[in-house]
Amino acid sequence: MEQTERIEPVNRILDALLRLSAPVTTGRIADYIPELAKADPDAFGIAVVSVLGHAYEAGDSRKEFTLQSISKPFVYALAISDLGLDAVHERVGFEPSGEPFNAFSLDDQGRPANPMVNAGALLTSSLISGQSSSERFARIHASLSGFAGRVLDVDQKVFESERESGDRNRALAYLMKASGSLTREVLDVTEVYFRQCSLLVTTYDIAVMSATLANDGINPMTGVQIVDSAVARHTLAVMGSCGMYDYAGQWAVRVGMPAKSGVSGGISAVKPGQFGIGVFSPRLDDAGNSSRGVAVLTLLSEGYGLNLLQHPPRPASPIHLLKWDADVLSAGIRGDLDFVDLELIVHEVAEELATKKKSDAEVRFDLTHVTSIGEAANMMLEQLVTRLKESGFRVSIEDPSMLVKVGVGQGGLA
Ligand code: GLN
Repeated sequence: MEQTERIEPVNRILDALLRLSAPVTTGRIADYIPELAKADPDAFGIAVVSVLGHAYEAGDSRKEFTLQSISKPFVYALAISDLGLDAVHERVGFEPSGEPFNAFSLDDQGRPANPMVNAGALLTSSLISGQSSSERFARIHASLSGFAGRVLDVDQKVFESERESGDRNRALAYLMKASGSLTREVLDVTEVYFRQCSLLVTTYDIAVMSATLANDGINPMTGVQIVDSAVARHTLAVMGSCGMYDYAGQWAVRVGMPAKSGVSGGISAVKPGQFGIGVFSPRLDDAGNSSRGVAVLTLLSEGYGLNLLQHPPRPASPIHLLKWDADVLSAGIRGDLDFVDLELIVHEVAEELATKKKSDAEVRFDLTHVTSIGEAANMMLEQLVTRLKESGFRVSIEDPSMLVKVGVGQGGLA
């Protein structure tokens, strides 16, 4: 253990990032829920959990606070698992509202703009399957606990404080009820919503929950599949476009990771396929996002090239061998094949056949060292084989891991 800590570079980087962002003391603690105003303004923690299940932490990463709006994407994931994406979309939009989290952003039919603002989150919460509000909350509680990998508690004081001060959320719900978009009883809906917002987590828990979304819906600590892969992807898409409220556009440019903030000062951010991040610091900026949280995630993203739109480096050529043996051209292929890899293979093979002017050769593709084939690459490979055969070549494919999906594209490999 000590040995691994000594060679552990990530914790040191997180420590340094906290040190660099700590001077940011702008913003204010949310006090419209009186109980939240009691938070320590200087608390600051960060945690990163990878899809391999390793955790890195710095600062107050084990201090508890309430989940608040970070509950929204996870409850949305449960709603689309229950009903399907389209059925939920009929009731709650996908579009960024460009408005604050508690805005009355409803369309003509009373449909909320997206599930990340309060109106949309209230409606989403009402869609969870269950006969009663306690059954719906029990399902939300079980699902969010699954995301975190431990049973989460409700902070009763924060729950009561929000219920007492929750007129604006009740007003939003009444408006949706009046326009017919919300079909359950307002007080039942707000009860469940206030409870989901009052679940107690640590920064570390948020990193695990985020890592579960990064890992195709499988909690990397427990190995349990919490939502399916498509649900995780849909949730991340909505976090990407709407998770940071009216800062969402700036966030895409400066940080570029799907993320969700909460009014108690937490932020969940996701690097799909790699890791989840949790950050906590209670002072909020004008958009209602943790000031230090935004600062530290901006530093992290800029410093380590984490923006999703960052141009990925091209890996080594997928062709590790291209050689003639009499009339047989062998092409040894390796790696994870995507569109550009197949493009390269198509052109190299075509050029080789053209320069050697062999019209009756055999082409042997050896895919032994291929680790995956994307959909577009699979289609291109099928097309390549079909065209080669049409031109009179004999073609064979060595595919011991059976990665090629036959007949998915237009051609068919048979
Ligand atoms: N419970 C909070 C509310 O509804 C959640 C808002 C937030 O975290 N931005 O006001």
